[in-house]
Amino acid sequence: MQVHDLTLMLSLWIASLTGATLLFVISKMTQTITGTRVWSLAMLLLSFAYLSQLSMQSLDVQWRVLTFNTFLILGHSAWLIGTWQFVERTPSKQKVAWLIVPVLLISWLTATVFPERELRITLIGIWLIAVRCHYAWVLYKHARQDKNEFLAARIAIGIVCLEVFFSIMYTLQGALGNLPQIGEAFNWVAGYTWVAALLGILAGAPILLLLSAGRFVKALEFAANHDLLTGLLNRRGLARQLTELLPLSKRKCDSLTVMMIDLDHFKRVNDLYGHQSGDRAIVCIAEVLKTHFRSADLLARWGGEEFCLVLFDMQSDMAASCANKLQNAFAQQSLQLGLGDTPLTISIGIACSREISQQGFETTQNQADSALYDAKHAGRNCVKVASMTLSLLEETP
Ligand code: GH3
Ligand code: MG
Ligand code: MG
Repeated sequence: MQVHDLTLMLSLWIASLTGATLLFVISKMTQTITGTRVWSLAMLLLSFAYLSQLSMQSLDVQWRVLTFNTFLILGHSAWLIGTWQFVERTPSKQKVAWLIVPVLLISWLTATVFPERELRITLIGIWLIAVRCHYAWVLYKHARQDKNEFLAARIAIGIVCLEVFFSIMYTLQGALGNLPQIGEAFNWVAGYTWVAALLGILAGAPILLLLSAGRFVKALEFAANHDLLTGLLNRRGLARQLTELLPLSKRKCDSLTVMMIDLDHFKRVNDLYGHQSGDRAIVCIAEVLKTHFRSADLLARWGGEEFCLVLFDMQSDMAASCANKLQNAFAQQSLQLGLGDTPLTISIGIACSREISQQGFETTQNQADSALYDAKHAGRNCVKVASMTLSLLEETP
């Protein structure tokens, strides 16, 4: 079957314009995800390239070729720049200039000053192959934030390999002078190359869209489960982690300990030194907490200036001794905040349970909260262990 290459140009034009529109809409929705807008621009530039072949057939071949190549080069450059931005490696202006300017110059020189078709196809072909390979390499190296992203990137790389294979064939044929002008005669190498390019856009645009949407959903999920100020889990995030972790921990661990930590007289810090200083104190306690506990423990900002720690397989006497170390470390660290000469203090309530379940966590957290209340009543800056926890410990052989 022979397909007229202008029919393929029409399909490419429709596909790239649709891709540009979809990517533009998604870039508006996922403002925080970089690269999508440039990908949309890339598709638009490519659509201009294919449109030029459709609309400029009656014009001098030199201008048609120059317009087509210019938009093709700009489109593929934007595609690569968008990918760099997407993986948070935004290129410098200098790098962008080196990517685009020399090849545009070559394209212009070989179309107008020294009209050398073979040389032009060879040089632009090599550039295009290098740019597509680089795009695939960037995806391979950096698009692996989760399983879905990894899979989408692998599919994109597979399609690029196909495109590159036909681009090599096209460039070789062009270098040997065996390629007719687009629209003049059918050549199977050119035909398959345009079909591969069409596949690149038809599958490429939705893949770029999925990559962008995937990162956006991840960012939303992170924001929903984490506290903005400290980066710790929030209550919702802790509940989610517990749902995932408790069934596994039930088989592996013997006990669950909850530690509730609250800054003492924190209102005074805000009143005396302002809210920003208060925020710095909250970040400071969060950092101290992060450095003092194991990666398997769960740490969350429970609310305002209150934190919750969930520890597995740590009896309450051990937890109490850790809590004392924590108090000392925070007191030392708080002196660096420039909030007067008196260190800030924390009160801590601890409770322990052998019931590792959602219900067990809720009961233990309530007990730890009561112990924290006791610590506040006992004059603050102290650690209290829930009495039920103590009797439980006494029972333990
Ligand atoms: P206590 O020793 O009994 O815990 O007294 P307190 O002053 O620490 O406790 P209280 O609950 O009366 O006040 C907590 C204050 O924490 C009130 C609120 O304005 C402040 N706060 C809550 N969240 C934040 C925050 O994100 N940043 C700052 N700067 N302050 C916060
Ligand atoms: Mg407090
Ligand atoms: Mg409080």
